[in-house]
Amino acid sequence: YRYWETREVKTTCAYCGVGCQMKLLVKENKVVEILPDKGAANEGLLCVKGRFAHDFIGHPDRLTTPLIRRNGTLEPASWEEALNLVTEKIQTIRQEHGADAIAGFSSARVTNEENYLMNKLMRGAIGTNNIDHCARLCHASTVAGLATTLGSGAMTNPMADVKNAEVIFITGSNTTEAHPVMGAYVRQARKAGSKLIVADPREIELAEEADLFLKIRPGSSVALSNAMIHVILQEKLENKTFIEEHTEDVDQLIAAVAECTPEWAETVTGVPAETIRQAARMYADSHASSIIYSMGITQHVNGTENVMSLSNLALVTGNLGKPGAGVNPLRGQNNVQGACDMGALPNVMPAYQPVNSPETIARFKEAWGVALPQSPGLTVTQAIPAAAEGSVKMLYVMGENPMISDPDTHHVKEGLEKAFLVVQDIFLTETGQLADVVLPAAVFAEKEGTFTNTERRVQRVRQAVMAPGEARPDWWILMQLLNRLGLESSYKGPKDIFEEIRRVAPSYAGISYDRIEEEGLCWPCPAESHGGTPILHVGKIARGAGLFKPVQWQPSPELGQEAYPDIMTTGRILYHFHTRTMTAKSPGIEAIAPENYVEIHPEMASAKGIQEGDLVAIASPRGEIRVKARITDRVDAQVVFVPFHWSEGANVLTNGEVLDPYCKIPGFKVTGVNVEKT
Ligand code: SF4
Repeated sequence: YRYWETREVKTTCAYCGVGCQMKLLVKENKVVEILPDKGAANEGLLCVKGRFAHDFIGHPDRLTTPLIRRNGTLEPASWEEALNLVTEKIQTIRQEHGADAIAGFSSARVTNEENYLMNKLMRGAIGTNNIDHCARLCHASTVAGLATTLGSGAMTNPMADVKNAEVIFITGSNTTEAHPVMGAYVRQARKAGSKLIVADPREIELAEEADLFLKIRPGSSVALSNAMIHVILQEKLENKTFIEEHTEDVDQLIAAVAECTPEWAETVTGVPAETIRQAARMYADSHASSIIYSMGITQHVNGTENVMSLSNLALVTGNLGKPGAGVNPLRGQNNVQGACDMGALPNVMPAYQPVNSPETIARFKEAWGVALPQSPGLTVTQAIPAAAEGSVKMLYVMGENPMISDPDTHHVKEGLEKAFLVVQDIFLTETGQLADVVLPAAVFAEKEGTFTNTERRVQRVRQAVMAPGEARPDWWILMQLLNRLGLESSYKGPKDIFEEIRRVAPSYAGISYDRIEEEGLCWPCPAESHGGTPILHVGKIARGAGLFKPVQWQPSPELGQEAYPDIMTTGRILYHFHTRTMTAKSPGIEAIAPENYVEIHPEMASAKGIQEGDLVAIASPRGEIRVKARITDRVDAQVVFVPFHWSEGANVLTNGEVLDPYCKIPGFKVTGVNVEKT
């Protein structure tokens, strides 16, 4: 193409939670190239995934027509047939088994407007709170932990603000690979003189650049945080004024960490006591210290307590409500923050309004004209086993791929096969292949709307091209079902839906399409006159007083199994995104990262007779996978690392039965396995 033959459409990247602004170069009905654009979140940067996103937009494998399973085979059908069948199934199952026999998975991939309509479909039209999405598998523990201690379960400071930090403490986040633009900001801060502490079971890229690297054992984060707080209190490095003015229950914290000496923590974490002391001093003795974390903290059976222990660390040192500080969970998918904000969670409506509060019920009754269910519904991690047991009869999955993303995928398959399964997606994913009805959806470049990035910034998504064949935007599909189920909706487009969101979600009330035409706004933004809130807790913790939650380290139940003595941990790599639904469609990316692998330490490899490139069998009580060995001392001698992107990969082995008691997140990051050469 020639540049002058194209037109530019400014939009937001549909991959990760950074929310980069980008320009789609469009020729006729095709996105031919993607260039970076300057936005508050990305400052003109863009990573390889965003640059190659046009490969999946126009890919020939896109779903272009609804499909219905007939005699065991998925066959093309009209929209009328497919939507009528889905409506009929909903009505029959509701009549015979009750509304709670239906569960819907909303999506961190689709827009706020679409998540809002999925919420309206499940709760308003069907009558169940069984709605959840993949946040259950990534940051449910953040939402539960930070909402309890601080009153808001979101990232406290914007990403670029990390450049104001004197000290950056990164724990359980492979930032340069999973959130590349955020990784670039950390590097810029480092160059400008910020100190860097990295705690991770793997020697990730940023570990090489860190002032202190703490190679912790998987599942030992609470022990590390408690020991750091122990040192801070013992050496009087706490912020007494902040504790007095902005927190409560400090005595409980003091009691909880009294025995957590660095020497004790060394036995749990594997990090030398003196290094823990240095980390504590470095973090506490600064004008502003920022904590950045991700799945290495949250994806544990004690994920919520991991999050609370980091909140304790920030509160005890007064590192909240100011530039360069904060507790900053990096959200994974492009709109996982927005999906949570829109109420794609079983216990809260949009803007985190509890399903059982009288004010919420009254507000939505007025807005939607129907009575709402009041008991919290099933989580993703409960709904799939319920489908396998038979109490959930129908699963409606929009833009998610639990066949790869959820723990213990063989058991997941059982649930998906037993229920009546509706899948709404852009490609025929591993989950779609099991569906009874497939509804073809539009991608981000084929529709209007908004995404909310990891720093709570609501940004515009704009249509550049027409969807292929009969594919339709998710909001259009959901609106057809709302109308068929009697909740009449006549939105002309996503802007109308957003106007309704503003009326029912107080934190979005001041945001309009006009106001975010050029640049996004961070919620809370309660009125049109309000400029948004880039930094939370300024002058006052959202909860009123920051709550110290005493937590104690407990060993993972996955450890100590005689038949499974090795520890597997999982994660992402730079080139692929989640279940590869989109990145696998990019020849450039597939050429660089074509297959799964396992990282094994040289000591373990030598003990088991494994050499570079050997096929290795990894088994857990849930199953076995075979992947090629990469021998590296990035991991510890007892630990192996397997990326989770591929089917028949890491999540065949992970445990879906033992869940975090607060938020029901599984413990993806610690799995007892047995590693052998095949
Ligand atoms: Fe930006 Fe994330 Fe997209 Fe990369 S994947 S371009 S970092 S939003």
